[in-house]
Amino acid sequence: MIKEFVDVLVIGAGPSGCVSASYLHKNNIKIKVVEKTKFPRLVVGESLIPRVMDHFAEAELFECLDAMNFEKKLGARFIRGEEICVFDFSQKFGEGWDWTWQVPRADFDNTMAQEVIRKGIDLEFETEVLEVSFEGKNSKTIVKDKDGNLKEIHAKFIIDSSGYGRVLPRLLDLDTPSKLDPHSSIFTHVKDINRPEGEEGTQISFDILETEVWLWVIPFSNGNTSLGVVGPTDFINSLSENKDNAEALRNAIQKSDYYIKRFNGTEFLFEPVKLENYSRAVKRMYGDGFALTGNSSEFLDPVFSSGVAFATESGMLAAKLYIKESQGIEVDWEVEFTEYMKRGIAVFTTYVKEWYTGNLQTLFFHQPENPEVKEKICSVLAGYVWNEENPFVKKHDHVIQNMAYLLNMQKEQNENPSVN
Ligand code: FAD
Repeated sequence: MIKEFVDVLVIGAGPSGCVSASYLHKNNIKIKVVEKTKFPRLVVGESLIPRVMDHFAEAELFECLDAMNFEKKLGARFIRGEEICVFDFSQKFGEGWDWTWQVPRADFDNTMAQEVIRKGIDLEFETEVLEVSFEGKNSKTIVKDKDGNLKEIHAKFIIDSSGYGRVLPRLLDLDTPSKLDPHSSIFTHVKDINRPEGEEGTQISFDILETEVWLWVIPFSNGNTSLGVVGPTDFINSLSENKDNAEALRNAIQKSDYYIKRFNGTEFLFEPVKLENYSRAVKRMYGDGFALTGNSSEFLDPVFSSGVAFATESGMLAAKLYIKESQGIEVDWEVEFTEYMKRGIAVFTTYVKEWYTGNLQTLFFHQPENPEVKEKICSVLAGYVWNEENPFVKKHDHVIQNMAYLLNMQKEQNENPSVN
């Protein structure tokens, strides 16, 4: 069997793997990336948040992406019947990028992977990891290439960015149930033939159909738009008696007063894909000789578009910590990797939970708007969830609940002034 020797093996060439690989290469680490599929490949996760731009810039992937003229995302719009709440990333608390992109991921990921190859990184498509064994920190990975040939890759460290492939969580029994309720989604792309002119046509939007059910509308610069419905798994399953994903998505579109005209009867560009019970969690995020990054570790919920940002944050951090360790500097992976990542994950977990309780929706749609509250929430939605100067980060575990309680009480009093 052919044997290859590298410092770091990166499994998966999604955003997490590409950011890791590019940063390691920039720092003269000998790496190899193996990717199971042939790019471009379909993957969900098309609405980015500004925090990712820090990672693309640092990993020197920004320019190739910028050259693609993807649709710029300047904020996000939430719709609930007649009520509308727009977040503008330039109106946020603290420092940070005030724009990002909304992207067809097949093209986006392929752009990054081709750039990684152009930099001279050894990236092999259609090469799947079958087995991994460790001796101390050193690992031996068996991969199978597109012609069925097996190869042994010896690495000092593995960054597992295999997404839902979950290579090491599966092989090392690291999966654990998510703390979030089971939610599912069905999505596709459409040719957006009724797209209105101007901002209305290109604005990324989340249309709340019921407290726990929402539709995403993500217009791309190529004229297509991504449409998806998200909700509790039982609800998503009830959208079509025959388990027909196209019928289910059409039924969801029918429920949207705002979008029914634009998308009713629009042809789907591919058979809608169902992602059932999509949240994931792991018992631990690292071990001797490996780190789990991106969806291979945790995935929460699409509602705040945080998936790619966590993927690139953890991919970049794992690369930096490996470099530090390779320089003979001790790394405390528990503190520097797990605890750091968990702090950000905890903030978004609260926001996801409070979205589905309806408390966050109370804050979003409250009138008159409170600009000071809004800019702090906006900073969280932009992905700056490690900025503890932001009280909506630092006190995330109770601030939303408390404010929603007060607003609801105030509303009740206004509606029934005689009740004390
Ligand atoms: P991926 O992009 O999934 O890449 C992993 C790669 O590993 C794949 O290319 C795969 O082929 C490869 N691989 C798998 N197994 C193997 C193997 N055995 N050997 C070699 N290679 C392998 N995130 C957002 O930021 N915005 C959104 O709007 C958003 N919407 C979402 C909607 C839904 C319904 C869901 C479920 C998720 C959404 N996400 C969103 C999350 C987003 O899809 C992921 O967080 C993101 O793609 C993770 O990137 P990654 O690099 O970790 O994994």
